[in-house]
Amino acid sequence: MTPISVEELCRLLACDDVAGASNALVTGIAVDHREVQPQDAFVAFVGQRVNGHQFVEDAFSRGASVAIVTENVKAAGGSILRVQDALLAVQMMAEYERQQFSGPVVGITGSNGKTTTKEMVAAVLGAMGDCLFTPANRNNELGLPLTILQRQARHRSIVLEMGMRGFGQIRRLCEIAQPTIGVITNIGYSHIELLGSQEGIARAKGELLEALPEHGRGILNRDDPWLCRIASKSRAPITWYGFAKDADVRADGVTWAEDGMHFRVHWRNEERSFHIPTFGLHNVANALAAIAVGLTVGLSLADMVAPLARVEASSGRLRILKGTRLTVIDDCYNASPSSMQASLEVLQHIAPPGQRVAILGDMYELGDHAESGHKEVGEAVGRLGVDRLLAVGKMARWMAEAATAAGVPHVLHIPTVEGALSALPSFLPEEATVLVKASRGMQLERMVAVLSPEM
Ligand code: ATP
Ligand code: MG
Repeated sequence: MTPISVEELCRLLACDDVAGASNALVTGIAVDHREVQPQDAFVAFVGQRVNGHQFVEDAFSRGASVAIVTENVKAAGGSILRVQDALLAVQMMAEYERQQFSGPVVGITGSNGKTTTKEMVAAVLGAMGDCLFTPANRNNELGLPLTILQRQARHRSIVLEMGMRGFGQIRRLCEIAQPTIGVITNIGYSHIELLGSQEGIARAKGELLEALPEHGRGILNRDDPWLCRIASKSRAPITWYGFAKDADVRADGVTWAEDGMHFRVHWRNEERSFHIPTFGLHNVANALAAIAVGLTVGLSLADMVAPLARVEASSGRLRILKGTRLTVIDDCYNASPSSMQASLEVLQHIAPPGQRVAILGDMYELGDHAESGHKEVGEAVGRLGVDRLLAVGKMARWMAEAATAAGVPHVLHIPTVEGALSALPSFLPEEATVLVKASRGMQLERMVAVLSPEM
C-alpha cells in the first residue's frame, strides 16, 4: 500500500470525526486485529459473532497507526477515525491505491473457473515481474479491495477474481479495480436464483465488459454462445479464445496423459505445444484465457510454456489422489451442471470402463432449474460411461432417476451424507477411480477423507 499520513487518510475518507489526528504514516491495512502490523490502519467491522471495536486497543498495542471505526471507541495509542461505513472506507482506500498503479489490471469473472484462471493468469504474468493476485477465493466487495491494498512497489501487474451473486456487484468491483483487461470464462447457472435466467447472468457478468476502457482488452471464451452475444458491450477490442476454429487464441491436438493435458496453441502465424498438470478440457480453456492475457501484455507463447506447466490444482478442485486400489478425483469444492459434466469427462478419460465411479451430491442455488439441472447431470453420467453412481442428497434423486433411465448399471440414491458414508464400503468395486463432487454446502470432503485411507 502507498504510504499515506493519517491526515491525508482522513481527507480521503471525508471523515470529520477524528481523535488524535496526526501525521503518523499508514503503510498497510488489517481487518483482523491478530494480523495487525506496525503502521497499519485497523478497520473495525461489526461481524455477526465478533465486534472489531473491542480490539482497537489491541490493534494499537500491535503498532496500528490508526483505527477506522463506526462506533464510539476510546482507546489510547493511535488515531481514531470515525466513518459511516467501514466497508466503504476500505473500498475508497483501494480506489485510491488503484489510481497509483499504471500497470495492467486484470479482472476475471465467469460462472466457473475464475479461481483456476486467476492462478494461471498470475503464473503467466509472473514472467514479466511480480504479480499481485487475489489470495484463495477472496473475490467479493471486501476481498477485492483488500487485495488491491496489498500492492507493493515491486508489483508489475494485478490480477483480481470478481465474484457476484446479483446485478451491480461486478460494476461496483470494477469501479474500485478499474480493470484494463477483463476475462469472462463462461456463463453457466451459478446464482440463477437471484438473476432469474442465463440471460440475467450474462447481463450481470457483462458489467465487466462495460467497465473496460477503449484502450483495454476483453478476453472471452469463443465456445460460449452467451459470451458471443454480449461481446458488443465492450468498447475495448476482444481477443477470443477457445477450441472454435475462429478463435484468436485456439487450442487443438488435445491429449490426456498421466501428468495432465497436452495441447497445441495457435495464435496468428505461431503455434506451440503446452502442458498443464491438471485435467479436463475446461482447464485447457482456462489456460487459453491466461495465454490470451499474456499475449495482450506483450508476452510470447514461448514465455508462457514453463509458467503454465507449474500451476497445480488447488484443494478440492479436480485434485487427483492416487492410491493402490483406488484413485480419487477430489472435486468437492463446488458444483454446477456444467462443472459436473466437465468432471465426468475427466473421469471418463482417466479411468477404464468398469472402474468409473461417481459420487455426486446436490447442486444448490439452481432455483427453477434444480430439477432439470440434476436430470441433465444424471443423463451425462449415462452418456459418459460411468459404471456406478452414488447420488447423495435430496435433489440428487433426480440425478439418480435420469442415470437409471440412461442405462447406468449401478445407481444408488441416499438422501444424507451420513447414510452414504455407511453405504460406501459395499458400493465400491475392488478397483476404481472415484469422482467426488457436489455443492460446497454438502461438504463431500467427508467422503474424500473416508476414501483416502482405503487407497
Ligand atoms: P467460485 O464461484 O466458487 O469462486 P470459481 O469460478 O472460482 O468458483 P474454480 O474454483 O476455478 O471456479 O473451479 C471450481 C470448479 O469448477 C472446478 O473444480 C471445476 O470442476 C469447474 N471448472 C473450472 N473451470 C471451468 C470451466 N472453464 N468451465 C466449466 N467448469 C469449470
Ligand atoms: Mg473462485
